[in-house]
Amino acid sequence: MQRALGRLLVILPALMLIVATESALAVLAVDNATGPASPRFHRQLRTALALLERSDEPHIRLLYAAVVTAPGTITFRQMTDDRATWSRDGDPNRGHTQPSDSRPKRQGRTKPTNATIFIPESAVKPDSARWKGGLLVHELVHALDLASGRYNRDYTVRERRAVFVQNIWRHHVGYRLRVSYHGAFATMDYQFASERGAIAEYMNFILRRNDFPEPPPAVPAGRPAD
Ligand SMILES: [Zn+2]
Repeated sequence: MQRALGRLLVILPALMLIVATESALAVLAVDNATGPASPRFHRQLRTALALLERSDEPHIRLLYAAVVTAPGTITFRQMTDDRATWSRDGDPNRGHTQPSDSRPKRQGRTKPTNATIFIPESAVKPDSARWKGGLLVHELVHALDLASGRYNRDYTVRERRAVFVQNIWRHHVGYRLRVSYHGAFATMDYQFASERGAIAEYMNFILRRNDFPEPPPAVPAGRPAD
């Protein structure tokens, strides 16, 4: 608790609202840097995080537990019509997670690094399509990788790790699985691990290492992807 208290003292002058700290070492905070985040966003975020904490899906609970005990601080920022909250490709709706230091993501991180998760309100609104699609879970994996110092230099590894847990979530809530990262490369790791009963083994990479198993072999042409 001493450590958490120390971090609270650093954060409070920056006008952040603390979301979940009671029993956790890590600090999850809402960033009000460019004006107050909407109270509704704040409320929905708290509810969304509580749902992950109490999820019936054990791997989602493991992700949450790792997030709140990671050494780094994770801050949430609502995406709004302020371009400063948008992803670099100019998409006002695409969630993204940024390291709080100013170094390029491609350098990876081997030391715990504070992170900011930028998400639209729809991602924390239970029962919305974006909630079911698992954007929050996806970004939490990136934030955990940063906050724990397990942030791989290779963005395809980072995205496959994030989509893996996102697909655990999607399967759990009955939403179609992701088969690629925006069409750029395949993200079939969950499907492959699931067929082999290896979900826990893959999850261990996310909780303890910064790499990930080799991508599964490509699906032969003519066979549906899933
Ligand atoms: Zn991602």
